[in-house]
Amino acid sequence: MKLLALSLVSLALCAQEKVDLAVIQRIKTEAFQNSKVMDHLFWITDVYGPRLTGSPGFTAAANWTVKRLKEYGIEDAATQPWGKFGRSWRLTKFSISIQEPEYAPLIGFPLAWSADTKGPIVTEPVLAPLKITDRLDRKKTDEELQAYFQEQKGKLRGKIVLLEKPRDVTPRTTAPASRYSDADLAKEAEASTPQALPVFDIEKMILPEKPAERHALFDLLPLDVQAKIWEYEDGLTDRVNQFLAREGAVAAIVPSYNADAGTVFGEAAGTYTSDQPTAEPRIALTIEHYNRIARLLEKKVPVKLELEVRTTGEGATGEGLNIVANIPGTAKPDEVVMVGAHFDSWIGGTGATDNGAGSAVMVEVMRILKSLHLKLDRTVRLGLWSGEEQGIYGSRAYVKETFGDPASMQLKPAHAKLAGYFNYDNGTGKIRGVYLQGNDAMRPVFEAWLAPFRDLGATTISIRNTGGTDHQSFDQVGLPGFQFIQDEVEYERITHHSNMDVYDHVVPADLMQASAVIASIVYHAANRPDLLPRKELPTPIKMRN
Ligand SMILES: [Zn+2]
Repeated sequence: MKLLALSLVSLALCAQEKVDLAVIQRIKTEAFQNSKVMDHLFWITDVYGPRLTGSPGFTAAANWTVKRLKEYGIEDAATQPWGKFGRSWRLTKFSISIQEPEYAPLIGFPLAWSADTKGPIVTEPVLAPLKITDRLDRKKTDEELQAYFQEQKGKLRGKIVLLEKPRDVTPRTTAPASRYSDADLAKEAEASTPQALPVFDIEKMILPEKPAERHALFDLLPLDVQAKIWEYEDGLTDRVNQFLAREGAVAAIVPSYNADAGTVFGEAAGTYTSDQPTAEPRIALTIEHYNRIARLLEKKVPVKLELEVRTTGEGATGEGLNIVANIPGTAKPDEVVMVGAHFDSWIGGTGATDNGAGSAVMVEVMRILKSLHLKLDRTVRLGLWSGEEQGIYGSRAYVKETFGDPASMQLKPAHAKLAGYFNYDNGTGKIRGVYLQGNDAMRPVFEAWLAPFRDLGATTISIRNTGGTDHQSFDQVGLPGFQFIQDEVEYERITHHSNMDVYDHVVPADLMQASAVIASIVYHAANRPDLLPRKELPTPIKMRN
């Protein structure tokens, strides 16, 4: 028994992933006592934000980031075009107010790619709410849209159209910010309950009706298939915009889809492609101000609004750009460890938590590795992506070009040389652990890597998949791609795609913790004897275009 026990112990020791505690101590000291992460964030938010893909702001912020990386001695830092994204668009002026029955300024912002009004417009609003029951039920959606078009035909000329019903505002009784408790983390670490799911018909693109089944199935779909579903949903907005344009409506207003008290969430007015006409100006208003206009209309009190939206496309070309930078490895320079985050944002705020935070952390990781002159056997490569918000385009294009095509699973030689990819994109929240994306073999590796950061809150390894960001581009071609478990903080309630996604809602300590954890992970991934363990290669995606 004793002998057996001994041999088991030595076996466990052999399998133990090595960590270099002296290097970790140096990384922590640099990350906590000499941090530049909030300075990176300041420049890409307060100075150059927001960073809408294809916009002049994105280009300016990207050029600044390249300059900063070069200042740190990362000489090959550069923007890399990945293809035509769409329209270059930037807001230059905006105001909206009630003129009658009583003047009142209104809180809100024009959604991205809204058309220019060429000056102030004073006109009446009209309440014409559109209800789509289930956006993924194509037949029903078609019927509902046609019925709406019939009903509103001839009523909207010269008007500003309120596109939704008013929504009740009720006092919030829970905290707007939260961090994971031990119990929350334990739940996050549980594997999803196995369930038999219906087969997804890729031709018809119809997901199951039950929300639990729908989410579970959607999570299992390859990113390229998920993206097709997003494109279809965007197309619905375009159909409404085309109707409004045909009818001669001058603009549309929607309520913030989340939050209240002056916090306004909103994304695109409509299409960003340059081969289609620009969407009608579409303004998102704080729910209280939206409701006030709706109540006035319902009580038949005459209302006049004044609206002005001015935009320009000058200063950029609508080209999709990623930022790529390498610290060359010494012993195995052709093998690569990647870190990344999406650099693009929406336009309500300055894209501070989404995803200035992740971008600043990754620039800081590169700075830490470089300034400590750490020995790196493998090349460490940074990728800051664009078009993430519209369909994870930048990283998908990069992966297809560099590593392989998920549709055919034709792989490039570099596919065999990538250790792994680590992504940060869920707001300011510090790292509480990592999602394994179903890669069981990575569990002992992450356990060893995160152990020195237990006392900083990074404890949890979850076998689950997480979606909606750039690690999926790597995962769908069978490369180890990971997104961290991050504290929620105010992401859902205040900042995610809102006008309050600004510098003040980023927590410096969170970004410093994340910079240290990721710099250490990258150091160890760059120096471990082998590349990281992988899952089995996925099969090619069969999909109609
Ligand atoms: Zn986002």
